[in-house]
Amino acid sequence: MADCLFCSIAAGGIPSDVVLETNDVVAFNDINPAAPTHVLVIPKRHVASAAELGPEDAGILSSLFEAAARVGRDLEGGWRLVTNVGPDAGQSVFHLHFHVLGGRPLSWPPG
Ligand code: AMP
Ligand code: ZN
Repeated sequence: MADCLFCSIAAGGIPSDVVLETNDVVAFNDINPAAPTHVLVIPKRHVASAAELGPEDAGILSSLFEAAARVGRDLEGGWRLVTNVGPDAGQSVFHLHFHVLGGRPLSWPPG
């Protein structure tokens, strides 16, 4: 999608610190990390948010969860998987992304 930051990152048009890539997803370090490990996992295909997902996205979802688990599974003490939907929830980039957070204790509930 034109003018989408994460579509540009997925296509390699904007550089990012990629930690994992498969046919349909890319994982890269967040530019403004909120934890020692803060990785964003995105589908290469544009989806605006989790609110837009439908049955046709089952394959993408499976790939996103698998990539997130590969990033998180070695983090001592656990990790958190978050996706913000809409501005009031803190979504600032309107291309679906999962935050993988870990490397420090994480309080609950989030703010
Ligand atoms: P959200 O606020 O849930 O939409 O998350 C968007 C995330 O994207 C934020 O944590 C930002 O720090 C991160 N971000 C924005 N631009 C970039 C970029 N060019 N490379 C990596 N992460 C980015
Ligand atoms: Zn996009």
